[in-house]
Amino acid sequence: MMSSIETLWSEITEEIKADKRNTSGSKIFLSCIKPSAIEGDQLVMEALNEFSREYVEKRYSEIICRILSNQEPALKYRLITRAGKVGQPFSDGKINQPVLPIITTEIAVDKPTKSVAGKYDGMFNSKYTFDSFVVGKSNQFAYAVCQAVTRSPGNLHNPVFIYGGVGLGKTHLMQAIGQELIKVHPKTRIAYLSSETFTNEFIDSLKDKKAEAFRAKYRKIDLLLIDDVQFFAGKEQTQEEFFHTFNELFQQRKQIVLTSDSPPDKIQRLEERLASRFAMGVVVDIQQPDLEMRAAILKKFASKSMVEVPDDVIMYLAQGVVSHVRALEGAFNSVLAFAGIMGKPINKDLVDQVLTFQLRENSDGKISIPWIQKRVAEFYDISEDELTGKRRSQNLVLPRQVAMRLSQIFTEASLNQIGEKFGGRDHTTVMHSCEKVNRKLKQEKDFFEEFERVKRFVDPDKQ
Ligand code: ADP
Ligand code: MG
Repeated sequence: MMSSIETLWSEITEEIKADKRNTSGSKIFLSCIKPSAIEGDQLVMEALNEFSREYVEKRYSEIICRILSNQEPALKYRLITRAGKVGQPFSDGKINQPVLPIITTEIAVDKPTKSVAGKYDGMFNSKYTFDSFVVGKSNQFAYAVCQAVTRSPGNLHNPVFIYGGVGLGKTHLMQAIGQELIKVHPKTRIAYLSSETFTNEFIDSLKDKKAEAFRAKYRKIDLLLIDDVQFFAGKEQTQEEFFHTFNELFQQRKQIVLTSDSPPDKIQRLEERLASRFAMGVVVDIQQPDLEMRAAILKKFASKSMVEVPDDVIMYLAQGVVSHVRALEGAFNSVLAFAGIMGKPINKDLVDQVLTFQLRENSDGKISIPWIQKRVAEFYDISEDELTGKRRSQNLVLPRQVAMRLSQIFTEASLNQIGEKFGGRDHTTVMHSCEKVNRKLKQEKDFFEEFERVKRFVDPDKQ
């Protein structure tokens, strides 16, 4: 017989409270999620906000799925976000007063702007302006070039080619140019799109026999902003088309701005004539921000969020998140969201909790080896030091081998790099460990299932 929503919910919460791998989390869980209905074969749960939703999804989906699949009939779940009422933690089904204004709905969501008039509605993100861009050593040249472009489009620097790693502000700067130009010259005809969109539109136009219209559209533009041109790689026909668009606009002295993850001559499978066109104007790079600049960026976020964030917390965060600005923004928003959900003051302890949560990913968005080690150690109930240490007792050796094999699966690290992260072991040791795991997987069904569980525990997104 089907259980009632109350029984189901108490089973889930009991299980979560009892799970020793999640000791610190059950309180957070209960304050940020509640059941709302059973619809068909789905238990619908409502999360307080996007941050909570992600949190629950990552930490608890395994437990929840297990309980639901044991029901008669088996259930699935759906996690929705309670819209429009951020900042009010759930508590025993009642709703508390807001503790802090939190801005979680904005986490990592690029909302299109509504502030620019008329035809540019939705083209740009209103947050991405020169005004909100923090300038420091790592980006001052790029910033200066972009500003110069808005003062004298098509004349000084053409094309402008901005390159740098993910999350360093390339898109932000490019959109700032567009938004600034609209302000100064509202009649400017602007096309802002990614190289992927350009490619897709081009292909569609061929399919629909509208190649001429496509051509005409992009050849009567005053400002052409193409984001992430590295995705032109290998698309020969599109490159050919873009080459002509580029030349046409260039000859008419129209401004062109391009971004990419690497300099023109380092983009794989890009025609040489295109690469040399890209490098004809100014090529500027943006680098990782240093500590001082990370702190400055965080201060900017804080002043925008209207929440008091103490200076020592800003410094602590700036020290803790060393990669790109997007990661910094994510961590900052998470700290505020966490404070809001838990009703806790914004201090270093809170930052610690949030950063552990974020340790999960490297700057390239891939799961990190430290995260794999942390989760595998948690799974097997050993310490991380034991996992990476030298002791060879059986209860440590297997988890160590599993963690090495998972590092091989989840990351692109070489055997040597993996060895380094595991207490300086050499690559043959790592290789043997991985082979051992593979053999065991083939021979032992129980181990196979255990390994799948560890895998899901490390990366619940990949079910
Ligand atoms: P990219 O296009 O290089 O991958 P984005 O322009 O999307 O990076 O930037 C990622 C996030 O970081 C955006 O939210 C952006 O506003 C923010 N950001 C990046 N650099 C800065 C900066 N110097 N000042 C303020 N915000 C920044
Ligand atoms: Mg970008």
